[in-house]
Amino acid sequence: MTAVSEPGGAGRYAPSPSGDLHLGNLRTALLAWVFARTTGRRFLMRVDDLDRVRPGAEQRQLADLAAIGLDWDGPLVRQSERLEHYRAAIDRLTESGRTYECFCTRREIQQATTAPHGPMGAYPGTCRTLTAAARADHIAAGRPAALRLRADVGEFEIIDRLHGGYRGLVDDVVLRRGDGMPAYNLAVVVDDAAQGVDQVVRGDDLLASTPRQAYLCTLLGLPIPEYAHVPLVLNAAGQRLAKRDGSVTLADRLAGGDTVEAVVSALCRSISDSARTPTQLSEHFDPSGLPRQPLTFDGNRLLQPSRCP
Ligand code: GLU
Repeated sequence: MTAVSEPGGAGRYAPSPSGDLHLGNLRTALLAWVFARTTGRRFLMRVDDLDRVRPGAEQRQLADLAAIGLDWDGPLVRQSERLEHYRAAIDRLTESGRTYECFCTRREIQQATTAPHGPMGAYPGTCRTLTAAARADHIAAGRPAALRLRADVGEFEIIDRLHGGYRGLVDDVVLRRGDGMPAYNLAVVVDDAAQGVDQVVRGDDLLASTPRQAYLCTLLGLPIPEYAHVPLVLNAAGQRLAKRDGSVTLADRLAGGDTVEAVVSALCRSISDSARTPTQLSEHFDPSGLPRQPLTFDGNRLLQPSRCP
């Protein structure tokens, strides 16, 4: 596998084309862009299209990102066009005895992981030591097999620009899904390394997955990038912002009478009080001054930083 790191490194934004980007996604993209641009890095755009693709979403997402003033370097990369690279990485792990087939259904895993005393959310290793007979039974029953990592640690620590040292769960993560497609945690690691991405800025909903990804890097001999997991935008009820929360996409805001400038200004202001444009944001960007708490979208005012109690 090639892991070509270019001089200067790169940051990236990697949307899943499952629907339109909302204000929270746009804000995360803006942060990824400003982190990269203010540290002399290239900024890359990758489409994470291994699942949940909605027709037309990719084009609308890219158009919205360009409309708010973000630019990116080099050609767009789509995960669906890189399957052989994921396969090669999985083969390397398999050749070194690091994988096993798993026939568990979602339901079985859910029941096992909510059992008392087990670490929350960790795969309990049910299929790790499957006998040849049990394996044959599963195959005869037509059960699809996912491929899992045989992890030899239970935790791994990463360093995050906003969260500091973060130690989190590593379990036997799925590398190839039951439908034969590579899993997100594997693909993201392979892609970031191949693209020379050494700075990953993304929503903090992915922080808990990051120790698994960094551990995978060590097994594949890939460099671990620098991480910054940024707070999400929440709805008034404190849940992650979603389309049902009203006027949350750029198109919604424009239809409601906002201008692009007003939306961009609100996004920039939510990151740095004095910035109204991405250029102004990059002139004064200070990661240490970033709000650490989630923002709240209340439907009228675009983005309200929530105050810590
Ligand atoms: N495609 C993922 C998402 O939209 C983000 C992946 C990443 O940034 O690592 O949630």
